[in-house]
Amino acid sequence: MYDVLVIGGGNAALCAALSARERGASVLLLESSPREWRGGNSQHTRNLRCMHDAPQEVLVDAYPEDEYWRDLLGVTGGLTDEALARLVIRSTASCRDWMRRHGVHFQPSLSGALHTARTNAFFMGGGKALVNAYCRSAARLGVEIRYDAPVDALELCDGDFVAARIGDERVAARSCVVAAGGFESNREWLRDAWGQNEQGEWPADNFLIRGTRFNRGVLLKHLIDSGADAIGDPSQSHCVAIDARAPLYDGGICTRVDCVSLGIMLNRNAERFYDEGEDFWPKRYAIWGRLVAKQPGQIGYAIIDAKAIGRFMPPVFPGIRANTLNDLARELGLDAARFMRTVNDYNAACRVGRFDHTVLDDCHTEGLSPAKTHWALPLDTPPFYGYALRPGITFTYLGLKVNGHAAVHFGGRPSRNLFVAGEMMAGNVLGKGYLAGIGMSIGTTFGRIAGTQAAQAARTGNAGNRYADE
Ligand SMILES: Cc1cc2nc3c(=O)[nH]c(=O)nc-3n(C[C@H](O)[C@H](O)[C@H](O)COP(=O)(O)OP(=O)(O)OC[C@H]3O[C@@H](n4cnc5c(N)ncnc54)[C@H](O)[C@@H]3O)c2cc1C
Repeated sequence: MYDVLVIGGGNAALCAALSARERGASVLLLESSPREWRGGNSQHTRNLRCMHDAPQEVLVDAYPEDEYWRDLLGVTGGLTDEALARLVIRSTASCRDWMRRHGVHFQPSLSGALHTARTNAFFMGGGKALVNAYCRSAARLGVEIRYDAPVDALELCDGDFVAARIGDERVAARSCVVAAGGFESNREWLRDAWGQNEQGEWPADNFLIRGTRFNRGVLLKHLIDSGADAIGDPSQSHCVAIDARAPLYDGGICTRVDCVSLGIMLNRNAERFYDEGEDFWPKRYAIWGRLVAKQPGQIGYAIIDAKAIGRFMPPVFPGIRANTLNDLARELGLDAARFMRTVNDYNAACRVGRFDHTVLDDCHTEGLSPAKTHWALPLDTPPFYGYALRPGITFTYLGLKVNGHAAVHFGGRPSRNLFVAGEMMAGNVLGKGYLAGIGMSIGTTFGRIAGTQAAQAARTGNAGNRYADE
């Protein structure tokens, strides 16, 4: 029998497996995907958010604990557990040494990735290289990995883990870490969570999934149905407006279109619906998926003119291009008369001061609803470009409730030997909203805690926390 069974094969699972093995446990990791698709959403990542009190190799200046915490409080509107959030924040001060020991390399922030040089450490080679490094390290240390191994149920006894089931096969272990992602790839569940809107549409039918197709939430649902305590709202997620031509799964970061704050965004009726210049793009990109999801047909159109070119990361798919605004409307399939009215109203409302995309500048609209509060320049310089955008789900926030030991709870009582990490519990820290790079901070912190606790539970029969924090 293995000491520790880890279910999942992304960042959180690999951190758990490595940590358990470092403490002497025998470890088996079960990943539902084939080897060539391993690494879940983690293979698409680029960086993690780190606190630091002074410049640290790839990170400039300082990003102290309290600033990190205030940023998180701001985006979540208070829907976060302060003790768990601070645990994550503090651990990011030192986790990179451990990551490096397992083969992860870092590089400075990319140009064009606005405002992240201070806060986010980028993985050399991206998340794919990180996953490959962890898998190599796991193999070297003797962690066993099985691919094509989707676990569909757990055998539990009074909240304790007994065995996992893959079809008819039973895999027993002394303790277990579940790190099998959210339910973002389960389109039926998304449909249920979002329901039907006033127009009778099912918004989730028009969502695209930015990452893996394997995060179907099978174990999340199974555990909640088995009495595990849940946290979070199933309709809350990280959701970005992405190119409508993106594939249904695994489009990754190259399907993002980052020009919204440089122009205007229209819905299917050629009407604006939100302030495109509300705040810096890294603080706002993750709200536009949800905003587009609330529009008719769940589609939006980002419109820019030639002045915006060179001011944002060029998207992989070229935009629709036209020499007149009328032609652009026609090419995009929008009502040309309404489109022209919206653009003309916007152009007339622009009060242009000193345009500067690196600060919250004074270019704004007057007498327009909704206002554009920064970077408002008239759309008057051909050629004009338009991008059709759809909601792109990154990951869902419904998860399992944990304590600081990453123990799964049943009726308020922590399990003795079942632990959880990553997206499956991120909702404890992220009730809504998002801070770029915190997904990997949560997964790395709780993956390492869960692996350590699982190794201890396997050795002593008790993780030492059963009654500690009830
Ligand atoms: C395009 C994109 C870019 C992103 N960029 C960043 C970034 O730069 N920084 C950041 O912090 N976050 C980023 N994120 C979010 C980040 O990917 C997640 O927060 C993080 O990877 C979650 O790690 P995880 O291990 O919990 O999940 P995953 O990495 O998704 O791993 C879950 C694994 O579980 C497996 N699995 C699922 N069900 C089962 C089952 N029943 N049995 C066995 N295995 C199962 C899946 O195959 C998968 O490998 C990004 C996400 C996407 C989609």
